[in-house]
Amino acid sequence: MAAEAASAAGAPIDLYDAMASVGRKFLLAGKGGLNLTHSEPSEKFLSRYGARRPQITPLLASFGPDALRAWARGLDIQTFVGTSGRVFPTDFKAAPLLRAWLRRLRKTGVQFHVRHRWIGWDEQGALRFTTPEGNRSVQADAVVLALGGGSWPKLGSDASWVPLLAGRGLHIAPLLPTNCGFDVGWSEHFRTKFAGHPVKSVAIVMRNNAGTESWHPGEFVITETGVEGGVIYAVSASLRDEIQAKGVATLRLDLSPDRDLPRLTHDLARPRGKRTIATHLQRQAHIEGVKAGLLREVVSKEDFADPVRLAVDIKALPLRLVAPRPLAEAISTAGGVPFEALDERLMIRSLPGVFCAGEMLDWEAPTGGYLLTACFATGQAAGAGVVDWLNESGTRGAG
Ligand SMILES: Cc1cc2nc3c(=O)[nH]c(=O)nc-3n(C[C@H](O)[C@H](O)[C@H](O)COP(=O)(O)OP(=O)(O)OC[C@H]3O[C@@H](n4cnc5c(N)ncnc54)[C@H](O)[C@@H]3O)c2cc1C
Repeated sequence: MAAEAASAAGAPIDLYDAMASVGRKFLLAGKGGLNLTHSEPSEKFLSRYGARRPQITPLLASFGPDALRAWARGLDIQTFVGTSGRVFPTDFKAAPLLRAWLRRLRKTGVQFHVRHRWIGWDEQGALRFTTPEGNRSVQADAVVLALGGGSWPKLGSDASWVPLLAGRGLHIAPLLPTNCGFDVGWSEHFRTKFAGHPVKSVAIVMRNNAGTESWHPGEFVITETGVEGGVIYAVSASLRDEIQAKGVATLRLDLSPDRDLPRLTHDLARPRGKRTIATHLQRQAHIEGVKAGLLREVVSKEDFADPVRLAVDIKALPLRLVAPRPLAEAISTAGGVPFEALDERLMIRSLPGVFCAGEMLDWEAPTGGYLLTACFATGQAAGAGVVDWLNESGTRGAG
């Protein structure tokens, strides 16, 4: 996106990527349908960027969700708003969009150099690359680094840029997993029976430091070691921070979101007769399968015998999370180059002519299209920033 913005203003652009082809993570995002952005009102949209909202707001004002959809249309890719408000290409695919985009970039003169791994600068200040043909140095008038975070390193973004920028005196906020799964440490019995099972129609009840509760409906998946998926990702940043602060976080799961506590207590208190507790749970509360398994895994025998306590457990089952899954497995990365080190054009203040964009910047957001939207917006801003800076410094050359 930075290449496109700068090239549109007439700057000759060379684009380097360590991998044998570009956009591998973008293509992976296509496997989930390529959630490009979200249709919710801008106030809500901006709130998704949490502490980084002030920095992301002006970027999205220049290139936000509507601009992104119009940009896709310009590539002949129509988008639509799904029932959840998320925006997808009508064919749910990333490959046609990427193909059309690369075609257009090549047409405007952007030169692609794959299998070029950036490894820093030489003494003359030229960019150094390793390539299959040996090392190469490249002088550029301006550089945009868009090297990604640290998740799914086999697709290219392996965070090898961190020591390179730290070596130039930049303080990089530690890279952390976000939109990630968590370890619980299941019993052998539960793991073998339920790993891979989706848990549907649940809600997570979160309480912030001020004691305010928020309710997050959705679904997730039981893994070999814990939990992952939709609703877990939605609250993963605060769970990760809680584990970092306290060593453990307790997730409160509402296994029966359609019934309130008095109704559930009333239903469970009905005479059980000769029925097993499993049948009783299934009949009276529609709790069965993996939900019943979760209850058995977490709740004491005494609670099981007491309908009042059992109802409380079903409405707020405490699940103890002991660790986030490693960054390599996460959907995205928190941490990176802090905005404080950049000017409003996303140029590193201490490295004039070097700009940053995308997930390598220090911001995070839940899934829902917010990640790609901010990546595109920062790319646009950095590309336009390059043009601005080159004009200002009277230089025009390879970018
Ligand atoms: C499974 C999965 C599904 C996702 N689905 C969605 C979704 O539906 N919607 C959404 O908004 N987001 C989604 N995301 C997140 C989204 O894909 C990323 O936020 C986005 O791709 C980040 O873009 P980027 O350009 O900053 O970094 P990347 O896409 O990671 O690209 C960085 C590029 O830099 C190259 N590179 C890295 N280091 C070097 C080096 N030293 N030298 C040369 N090249 C280098 C890499 O090869 C790579 O091509 C998903 C992520 C995952 C893992």
